[in-house]
Amino acid sequence: MDYLKGLNKPQYEAVTSLEGPLMVLAGAGSGKTRVLTMRIAHLITNLVDPFNILALTFTNKAAKEMKERIAKVVGQSEARSLWMGTFHSVFARILRSEAHYIGFPSNFTIYDSQDSLNVIRKVLKELNIDGDLYKPKKVQARISSYKNNLITVKAYFNNPELIEADERANMKSIGAIYQKYVDVCFRNGAMDFDDLLLRTNELLTRFPEVLAKYQDRFRYILVDEYQDTNHSQYLIVKALASKFENICVVGDDAQSIYSFRGANIYNILNFKKDYPDAVTVSLEQNYRSTQNIVNAANVVISKNLQQFKKNVFSDNEEGEKIKVYRSLSDADEANFVASNIWEQHNSDQKKFTDFAILYRTNSQTRAFEDALRRKNIPYRVFGGLSFYQRKEVKDLIAYLRLLVNENDSEALSRIINYPVRGIGETTQNKLIVFADSQNIAVTQVLDNLGFYAPNLKLNNGILTKLSDFWSMIKAFQVMLKTENAYNVAMEVAKRSGVIKFLKDDQTPEGISRVENIQELMNSMQGFIEEQQQLEDGDASLSSFLENIALSADTQTDKNQDGDQVSLMTIHLSKGLEFPVVHVVGLEENLFPSFMSSSTREELEEERRLFYVALTRAEKQVFFTYAVSRFQWGKITSAEPSRFLSEVDEQYLEFINPATESRFMNNSGLKSSIFDDDNSEPRFFKKKDPKKTIEKNEPAPIPQNLKPVATARIINPSGNSSQDIEVGDRV
Ligand code: ATP
Ligand code: MG
Repeated sequence: MDYLKGLNKPQYEAVTSLEGPLMVLAGAGSGKTRVLTMRIAHLITNLVDPFNILALTFTNKAAKEMKERIAKVVGQSEARSLWMGTFHSVFARILRSEAHYIGFPSNFTIYDSQDSLNVIRKVLKELNIDGDLYKPKKVQARISSYKNNLITVKAYFNNPELIEADERANMKSIGAIYQKYVDVCFRNGAMDFDDLLLRTNELLTRFPEVLAKYQDRFRYILVDEYQDTNHSQYLIVKALASKFENICVVGDDAQSIYSFRGANIYNILNFKKDYPDAVTVSLEQNYRSTQNIVNAANVVISKNLQQFKKNVFSDNEEGEKIKVYRSLSDADEANFVASNIWEQHNSDQKKFTDFAILYRTNSQTRAFEDALRRKNIPYRVFGGLSFYQRKEVKDLIAYLRLLVNENDSEALSRIINYPVRGIGETTQNKLIVFADSQNIAVTQVLDNLGFYAPNLKLNNGILTKLSDFWSMIKAFQVMLKTENAYNVAMEVAKRSGVIKFLKDDQTPEGISRVENIQELMNSMQGFIEEQQQLEDGDASLSSFLENIALSADTQTDKNQDGDQVSLMTIHLSKGLEFPVVHVVGLEENLFPSFMSSSTREELEEERRLFYVALTRAEKQVFFTYAVSRFQWGKITSAEPSRFLSEVDEQYLEFINPATESRFMNNSGLKSSIFDDDNSEPRFFKKKDPKKTIEKNEPAPIPQNLKPVATARIINPSGNSSQDIEVGDRV
């Protein structure tokens, strides 16, 4: 068993103890994911049927990589029948087979966050609620936090405390919005990301036979990145594991960075309570990074009060010091990083894939993209707006969604008049109002147009247009019964007029839109071929749509492979490693973010984020900051991040011209954050004018609620400006 040979003692123990509850709680780079992977391989080697194993990862990418590693040990065919993926993708699959229990069609649509935001906007409009007072993104975050804490609409209205809290925060209509939103989604046969977990919980709680079926199936459950599971996920795992208790979770409280999305660090604490016999293994040796990086990271994270004490050391080489670069502007910063990569690529024969650029928010990418492009350095931006969210791609997908789930009014509203076919907004509104009054979907009105026509008050010309449009959709649906998904999609693109419409625009942007449609077709073709090779593959259109709704983190752009520099937010970099890491934009109000530095809890989460960034690196780290930055439409001056001062200077090397003093701000003065011994309270006092804009922030959800008493929600109002990548939700 060669795969066991490379493990150290505690790793070996964790991999080979096959039965019973086990928790690995350990620092970054200590081999948690490796343990999880090898444990699965070991289970299979010991004749556990892969069919009985469920492994939950934080991203699809991680699942894919793990599966490949397991396949190397146990062979492709064994690895194939493993259920391995994100919570969302695994439970979407289960919900599809069991949807009838909870009144959903098995071909339900999955709404990404953009779709759900569109629905919220419509709900606000329908309820005549001021969108300025109730910012759609805020409403979305609020509903999301309810769902992730299993507060259904009914539970909400049964809870005076919640209602009062929202009233106090001038958000008294939230309940009504929530209710309407849930109704619309249900009527559309659609689930948003949070529903995938909420409805799974509903399924497992209300139907004991379904629970028993999956308990028997998933005899061995493994969860990576356990520190970032939310309450809803926690309950699913607990329910499924309660029969056999063969559950292995691995995590690091110091890397819990999704509390703004409901992640609950206390799930780790509860593990011992839920499974008193649980074995806890800690791993201390970091195999990823140089000693210098590990030591610097230890110093940083020790500033957090809230943490389990851990020993982490590295036996690797001491390594180079962390280079700190002070730049004059964001453009200067980007140029420095691009030049650095270019030089190291040329002189040290490093590959471009060896480099990562990690930032706090997505908006920072542009400067880096420009600088890299100028030097002809290939790069890939992870997260952000995914390929499948580009307008032209999403519009065509909306046609396809409608073919699969006729009730999907959201998809309908995207395409009923795209390309323009004379069905204007007034007509659409009439349809919506009428459908609402009958409590049916708009598509049902279209399906029985002859019957409803007298009530619609539309002229004959418009009625003909509606009828033509709907006949076209129906014809596509008929075609779907006999033709494969690719052929149908091709037909849709042509007959709907989409291709012609896009081709009429001969500007470079227009041409690139047509190319994107072509690319969508290619990706569909690839998907179909891939599925056809699998034993239990599903090459249907609905399977393709589910795949893209849930996989924004794996499929972001046309050129997926190749030698490219990786650009991503720190949130997305969790679990990954790169030889050379640039942590950029290390400035106050950017990192830590101005949205997240007013309480100690928020600041500690930002620090964990910094810890995650630093511990992605194997050999070299570059910290960069700018003294002025183009932000919110103007040039603002910036101070270096407090995190820079928290890294002990013995681990740093300043690579600015020698004449400049360290950590200078724009005015040339030594930055004030270094004036005292970085005692934290000073920073809390500092008020950012932008923060005061957020007047109507809803009150936090009270902590003492049933059944979510253990949930801790640091920021339930949801910072809409946080980087919530759709992709990594999956
Ligand atoms: P993170 O907290 O960042 O998710 P992790 O604890 O999951 O990190 P891994 O990604 O599993 O750590 O491992 C980090 C690196 O160390 C990987 O490259 C892995 O192959 C290597 N590694 C882990 N254990 C050993 C070992 N016993 N011998 C050699 N290399 C190891
Ligand atoms: Mg890991």
